[in-house]
Amino acid sequence: MYRPIHHGYIEVVIGPMYSGKSEELIRRLKRAKIAKQNVVAFKPAIDNRYSDEDVVSHSGVRIKAIPIKSAKEIYDYIDENTEVVGIDEIQFFEDEVVDIAMELADRGIRVIAAGLDMDFRGEPFGPTPKLLAVAEFVDKLQAVCMVCGNPAHRTQRLINGKPAKYNDPIILVGATESYEARCRKCHVIIK
Ligand code: ADP
Ligand code: ZN
Repeated sequence: MYRPIHHGYIEVVIGPMYSGKSEELIRRLKRAKIAKQNVVAFKPAIDNRYSDEDVVSHSGVRIKAIPIKSAKEIYDYIDENTEVVGIDEIQFFEDEVVDIAMELADRGIRVIAAGLDMDFRGEPFGPTPKLLAVAEFVDKLQAVCMVCGNPAHRTQRLINGKPAKYNDPIILVGATESYEARCRKCHVIIK
């Protein structure tokens, strides 16, 4: 695909959990570093899945990332030399992340964002849909359905091993919660 080198633009990588979004973001950022570009990566401070200071994929590849509470903090870490900005777990930021990504791209920065496009209910997640609408490039990745092995574009929420109900609270004290990738046919939401 043709991508302009000296102009700013927005790329978004979306898909369910385990589809390889973090891996793909890390791959693109590493390549930009190999090209000696000035790269800064960010992630929401709430996501301390494996490491506080890195974006880490489920397969273990990683890159240094600055944990931030709000997207506005990006401005504290960039300057006129910044060429590439990576943002992981975009769905956890407020809608203002869309305006900030736009402003960075207008300044000439390549913005690469990765995140969930849908929540466990299969509904659009946070600012991601808006970011897709304004981005130049969008890649929608599929995981592997843990039930049937087909390509999976949704994330199944399980509570104590059973499909979660639509209205189950986000935080469940005493319950074991897990997530897995599933296709349309195997994805279950109990209303
Ligand atoms: P994401 O950021 O989309 O959650 P990651 O980049 O962190 O995804 O992880 C992708 C990796 O997860 C794959 O390369 C593979 O090793 C592993 N993986 C585990 N379960 C699955 C699955 N159901 N489908 C595809 N990959 C999976
Ligand atoms: Zn399936």
